[in-house]
Amino acid sequence: MIDALPPLREVIATHDLRAKKSMGQNFLLDLNLTARIARLSGPLEGAQVLEVGPGPGGLTRGLLAEGAGHVLAVEKDARCLPALAEIAAAYPGRLTVLNGDALEVDAAAHLSAPWRVVANLPYNVGTELLVRWLTPASWPPPWQSLTLMFQKEVAERIVAAPGNKAYGRLAVLAQWRCDVRIAMTLPPEAFSPPPKVHSAVVHLTALPAPRHEADPAVLERVVAMGFNQRRKMLRAALKGLGPDIEDRLRAAGIPPTERAERVGLEAWCALARSVAQA
Ligand code: SAM
Repeated sequence: MIDALPPLREVIATHDLRAKKSMGQNFLLDLNLTARIARLSGPLEGAQVLEVGPGPGGLTRGLLAEGAGHVLAVEKDARCLPALAEIAAAYPGRLTVLNGDALEVDAAAHLSAPWRVVANLPYNVGTELLVRWLTPASWPPPWQSLTLMFQKEVAERIVAAPGNKAYGRLAVLAQWRCDVRIAMTLPPEAFSPPPKVHSAVVHLTALPAPRHEADPAVLERVVAMGFNQRRKMLRAALKGLGPDIEDRLRAAGIPPTERAERVGLEAWCALARSVAQA
């Protein structure tokens, strides 16, 4: 038992929290598992934590039981609020619950940097949140690490290396500014209701500075364009960047006939610098 609160199945029955597909709800009901996921984010004693989508609160309880000093939990589904209020009462002063959309919340108004982000993300906004966390104009960001549950296929895209089918925009943006690894994989049965696919927890640690110099907005644009037509040669895929794209590619040391999938992080950054200069 990790705390004195009722088991999650009971919480869900009491508050009638039937999972809604439209909210991307697949709940974790095993508190030993949620405590393990919480620990994957590193030592939590006294830590500031942002949790997106606490739902009935399994992971929230794991974070608090593992010693998090302050958890800011942002939940869109108001049905979950009474269950979360019970957790807040069991951990006085350590849990703040906001009813709203994680895409619109200003975490800095509630947490002091650096905070950790830990979340079993709703599949429909997970990638968008990750890209936002990875692409602020300046670095380091206010968070020190992201420990995030994704569909396994998305997790593989984040950690993929050049030449791999999963290698693309997410890999470049994540690995440019973070150390990344898959920390755990989970079968569908770990969730209620079980999703159709396997899931994985990705752990990203913010580097003190990006691995190579580049303007984040330019890098994001170049990489998105390059991978948008990933089977084309880059001179064709990147035509939209200007008539001198072949020169830009050569200046970055990339053969114009190369395909996005084979271009490594350092070369993408060199290309972003070359495009920004032009
Ligand atoms: N953390 C819980 C767990 O592990 O059992 C629930 C995870 S469930 C996959 C995703 C949660 O995110 C749901 O509770 C859902 O209501 C919530 N959610 C969906 N869209 C959201 C959004 N835009 N902002 C905040 N929460 C959202």
